[in-house]
Amino acid sequence: MIADFNSRNNGAEAGAGFDGDGASASAAVPNAIEVEHIVKKYGDFTAVNDVSFDVKEGEIFGLLGPNGAGKSTLIRMMTTLIPITAGTARVAGHDVQKEPDAVRRAIGVIPQALTSDLDLTVEENLNIYAKLYDVPAKTRKQAIDELLEVVDLTKWRNSQTKTLSGGMRRRLEIARGLVHSPRIFFLDEPTTGLDPVSRVAVWEMLTNIKKNRQLTILITTHYMDEADRLCDRIAIVDHGKLVALDSPVALKASVPGTNVIEVQFDNATADWEEKLRGLSDVTSVQHLGAGMYRVLTGNGSRTTTGLVEMSVEAGVSVKSLSVQNTTLDDVFVHYTGRQLRDELVKAYGFVMPPRPGVQP
Ligand code: ADP
Repeated sequence: MIADFNSRNNGAEAGAGFDGDGASASAAVPNAIEVEHIVKKYGDFTAVNDVSFDVKEGEIFGLLGPNGAGKSTLIRMMTTLIPITAGTARVAGHDVQKEPDAVRRAIGVIPQALTSDLDLTVEENLNIYAKLYDVPAKTRKQAIDELLEVVDLTKWRNSQTKTLSGGMRRRLEIARGLVHSPRIFFLDEPTTGLDPVSRVAVWEMLTNIKKNRQLTILITTHYMDEADRLCDRIAIVDHGKLVALDSPVALKASVPGTNVIEVQFDNATADWEEKLRGLSDVTSVQHLGAGMYRVLTGNGSRTTTGLVEMSVEAGVSVKSLSVQNTTLDDVFVHYTGRQLRDELVKAYGFVMPPRPGVQP
């Protein structure tokens, strides 16, 4: 399965468990991006390992994976910022290695770091980019006015960028990346570091932009909810390899089980995990520690009933229980054996910060 995805994969050919509803329905739509057997090595280390995928014109396509998976490296190769070690990438019909200037003219790129000039106003930042990209003087003002509306910053056009919140600055960067009307828009982790409300605002904005402009969007993200909500198709990347690719719905449907039960027991017996596996409709059980289990099932209500009956009979108490639909995290577990959430916590070396006012 994994080998299939790393050799050649545009969704339509995925077969083996994935029907790729997004891909098969849009077989006639031309490709905006074609990546074939792309590899990036840093010395002996392979950051991107033989990855292939296509992005259709007009799609929002997501590269989802934990930190260090190779997402930024992929974006940097596709946007001509770093050389490719092996394989090819075509963007807007141009080979990124042979025709980098043509690629650059067709794309807009929003890197992870916020890069607008803080001392300039919102409008000045947009103007500089418009000039840099040779947007003709007579259309420049109109293009900027329209974009300010799109990203909801018209009121702030004369404000210095340093006075804007993180979410507003991110919206300014999105406007800046669109000022020369690119056909393909690359965004590296567009909402990392934003608060939940600003994240949703950016998602809505990107969805609207895609609806109203002829634009293909490729984003990288480590947020499952972001990929789920925003993307038509998602490529899951792990350790430089593509492990699965399809629409969010098809990816979730590819995981055996339709519900996930998260349940915590107080005094579970040593063979409890085995017993949970024996309940009706259960497809997998993960012990998360501290009496906590994650149970995948094809029938949430039937398994829950059986689980509660079994607990009462064994004198094991249920501390908490929740039943949800399967998520992209379950998809990640299914294909990699690990939880995306755990990987993120590990990657960031996450330590709970002290609460304000609390002495260490
Ligand atoms: P992601 O964007 O998914 O977080 P990256 O593409 O930034 O991942 O990195 C993929 C891997 O390549 C990581 O292990 C990272 O440490 C490594 N890497 C990235 N850039 C360089 C570099 N310039 N030199 C050496 N290793 C690098």
